[in-house]
Amino acid sequence: MSGAGTVTIIRGGRLLDARAHRADPADVLVIGDAITEVGAPGLTAPAGATAVDARGMLLHPGLINAHMHAHGNLAKGMGDRWTLELLLTAGAWISGGRTHEDRYLSAKLGAVEMVLKGCTAAYDLPLEFPAPTPEGTEAVGRAYAEVGMRAVVAPMVADRTLYEAIPGLLEVLTPALRDDVATQRPAPWQTSIANLRAALRGWTHDRDHVRLAVAPTIPHHCSDEFIRACADLAKEHGVALHSHVAESKVQAIVGLQRYGKTLTAHLDDLGALGPHFTVAHGVWLDDDDMKRLGDHGSSIAHNPGSNLRLGNGLADMRAMLERRVNVGIGTDGANCSDNLNMYEAMRLASLVSKGRGPDIERWVTTEEVAVAATEGSARALGLEERLGRLAPGYKADIVFLDLGHPNWIPLNDPTNQLVHTEDGGAVTHVMIGGRLVVEHRRVTTVDVAVLARDVEAARRRLAEVTTPGKALYERLAPIVGRFCPGLAHVPYHVSRYVGGS
Ligand SMILES: [Zn+2]
Repeated sequence: MSGAGTVTIIRGGRLLDARAHRADPADVLVIGDAITEVGAPGLTAPAGATAVDARGMLLHPGLINAHMHAHGNLAKGMGDRWTLELLLTAGAWISGGRTHEDRYLSAKLGAVEMVLKGCTAAYDLPLEFPAPTPEGTEAVGRAYAEVGMRAVVAPMVADRTLYEAIPGLLEVLTPALRDDVATQRPAPWQTSIANLRAALRGWTHDRDHVRLAVAPTIPHHCSDEFIRACADLAKEHGVALHSHVAESKVQAIVGLQRYGKTLTAHLDDLGALGPHFTVAHGVWLDDDDMKRLGDHGSSIAHNPGSNLRLGNGLADMRAMLERRVNVGIGTDGANCSDNLNMYEAMRLASLVSKGRGPDIERWVTTEEVAVAATEGSARALGLEERLGRLAPGYKADIVFLDLGHPNWIPLNDPTNQLVHTEDGGAVTHVMIGGRLVVEHRRVTTVDVAVLARDVEAARRRLAEVTTPGKALYERLAPIVGRFCPGLAHVPYHVSRYVGGS
């Protein structure tokens, strides 16, 4: 545990400089929770400093997950062939019946997975239905605080059901199904705003560790007055905004149908865009959307694994960077991309860019990906002055990779190997705010065996209480699964994506 005055000297490691593709020997002095000095081996440390032996290790800034969902962790492995719209249809089954204790367990499980895989901070969008409560939000925040991981927690809110959000979908349901989905209505937006405001006012956690943000989940799932109220609330409390924008082609088309303009243009009209705004995904943004986001200094959380898994396509990271959009990298939830492995997310970000076509000038480089997964994600979280780099003044969020692991034998190029070779297997220690949260591959802060036992009990109980939700999903899936791809009516082919929608 690192107290305010604790002094730690990390000796013998090699410090990654991702931009330079170098990893030179360096010692790192940590006082309290921050790095105060980085210097040549043999760096002078105050008497009484605790030494951490980093010989044979590569030190890199903690990876920052720009987009994931705490509630998804209890639902990992529940689906295979589902689109985004089918995933949303499955909500009452895979995320239903949750207690605050379940929310806490699900968040804690994800935090444990992330720290073990070299991730030190996350932008988390938990779901609580029909509206977030201060207690449910606190349960998620408490989980991160106990694991010792940083998070920005942005509860997802909406005031329309999926069936109301997609024009024509309600009409193709049978009257019985229409009645059933009417029970899935989120709370009136005023309730969500009041609850979020109460959570923001009552927040007790150190905001450097766990802070709140506001997430109108998908623009057309929210009325205009709701989005305006979310933007006002974020402004009132100086917190960030996050929304899934143009994730699927269906969303992009529905945006044009509903508003006569893109979802991004609509959000711009509502005053939602700004440096505090993060678009999740942005697969179906056009050039004007990218320009708007770049001009506003906004961020995109790029989640290539989820986009592949849900059939949403290949987001164009090069176009984002060209338009000066800040790009962070995320995994998305375990209910739609299965693991929370930021090394895999980095590798996929590189591969998806390369998979768009053979023009290598348009491919993102490994250093661009490594910078996005650290500095870019930090900026999306609003923490770019404190996170994402190993330099004096930054928080001591440091991952120690074992260079004796096969991933690093031989060591040819540290940046290329970080992005393309490392898979989390070499993660040995993880320091967050000067505290070793993972030491010798074990989480030091929580008892993982107890967590596993509690999660299994929750899984068993939830499987029972969500049986009606599963039955409803099975009745809805054939209709939603036919209607939505029909809406997107062009053949699913990679070439459709090249050059934007
Ligand atoms: Zn998401």
